Amino acid sequence: MHAVTFELHKTDSRTKARRGTLTTPHGKIETPIFMPVGTAATVKAQRADEVKEMGAQIILSNTYHLYLRPGHEIVREAGGLHRFMHWDLPILTDSGGFQVFSLGKMRKITEEGAFFQSHIDGSRHMLSPEKSMEIQHALGSDIIMAFDECAPYPAERKYVEHSLELTTRWLRRCNEAHEEYAARLGGESQVLGEGCNQSLFGIMQGGVYNDLRKRSAEQITELDLAGYAVGGLSVGEPKEIMYEVLEETLDCLPKEKPRYLMGVGSPDCLFEGVERGIDMFDCVLPTRIARHGMAMTSHGRVNIKNKKYERDFTPLDPECDCETCRNYSRAYLRHLFKCDEILSSMLMTHHNLHFLIRTMDRIRQAIDEDRFTEYKKEFYSKYGLEQDNV
Ligand SMILES: [Zn+2]
Repeated sequence: MHAVTFELHKTDSRTKARRGTLTTPHGKIETPIFMPVGTAATVKAQRADEVKEMGAQIILSNTYHLYLRPGHEIVREAGGLHRFMHWDLPILTDSGGFQVFSLGKMRKITEEGAFFQSHIDGSRHMLSPEKSMEIQHALGSDIIMAFDECAPYPAERKYVEHSLELTTRWLRRCNEAHEEYAARLGGESQVLGEGCNQSLFGIMQGGVYNDLRKRSAEQITELDLAGYAVGGLSVGEPKEIMYEVLEETLDCLPKEKPRYLMGVGSPDCLFEGVERGIDMFDCVLPTRIARHGMAMTSHGRVNIKNKKYERDFTPLDPECDCETCRNYSRAYLRHLFKCDEILSSMLMTHHNLHFLIRTMDRIRQAIDEDRFTEYKKEFYSKYGLEQDNV
C-alpha cells in the first residue's frame, strides 16, 4: 500500500479530462490540480496561511535549493518541511535533477549521478538517486520525485535515448533507496507518525520522440509506483509539439495512477493538458510574472507597468473576488510597482495564484458536470491566446 493513493472518479465523455482524488498523509487533493511553487520553502511573497486560504491544496518545493540552503539536515531538525514552513497540507518535492541540469557548464553527468557547482558560491556537490532520496526523506514531503535526467530541446535522438535509459536505471535506484528507507520505518503508511509517510513518483522522459516516450513509459511502469510524471516537456519546444506528445503517449501510463505534467502552468496549457488526461501541474509562471508586474486575468494578461493604467481605478480583474481585486485598483498596483514597493509583489502574486486556483476549481466542476469542452471554449473566448514572452 502506498502512502499516497489515487482514486479516479470519472473521465469526460468527449475528451480525456479526468476527475480524481489524491489521498496523502497530509490530506486529500482534488484533481486536476495546479500546485503553486515554493522553491525555497516559501511561495514567494505569500505567507503559508494566505496560500492555504486562497484554496491551494498542495505546494511544490525544490530539493536542489533546500539542499544548498539551509541544508536538508536543518529542515530535518526543524521537524520536516511542513513544520519548518508552517504548511500542514500536502507537499511535493522535485528531485533536484532539473535544477542541476539547468546549470549547463557547471555540471557533469555520470552513471553515478550529477556532479555540480553551487550557483550560490561555486562549492562542489554531487546529487545521485540515493542522495536525492536521502534529502527528500529528510524534508518529509508527501510526494517525492525520482532523480531523472531532463534532456534539453532540441536534442538528438541518440542523446534522448541514452538519457531516458539512464533515467530508468536511476529510477530503479531511487525506488530501492526509498523502499529500504520505508522498510526501516515499517513500510509506507497513510497514517502520520507510523511508517514512512512518503510516496515516490517516476518520471517519463523521451523528449519529443513518441516511440522513446512509450519505451520510457513501459520501463518506469514496471515498478508499481504511486504516480507518474511527464518530464522533459515545456523546455523550449513549441506548445503544439508538447500537446501532440501528450496526445500520443499519455495512454501508455496507467489510468488508475495520477499523471503529473512537470513545469507547466500557463492557463492555456492547463486546459490543453487536462483535455489530454493530465491530473497535476506546477509552474513558477504565476508567481514569477507577478513580480514583474504581469497579471493573468479573465480577459488575458495585464501588464500593470503600462501607462494606460495610470488613472485606471478599476480592479485588476473585474471578475475576480481575490483580496487584491476586491480592495485595490490598477492605478494603485501600477504605482506600487513603479515605486518598487514590496506590496506590489505580494498583491500581484496573490491575484495570479488565486486566478489559477479558481480556474482549476472551475475546470473540476466542469468535468463533474460533463461540460469541460464548453467551459474551455468560454474561457478562451475571453482570455484570448496566451503570449509567452515574459
Ligand atoms: Zn484577483
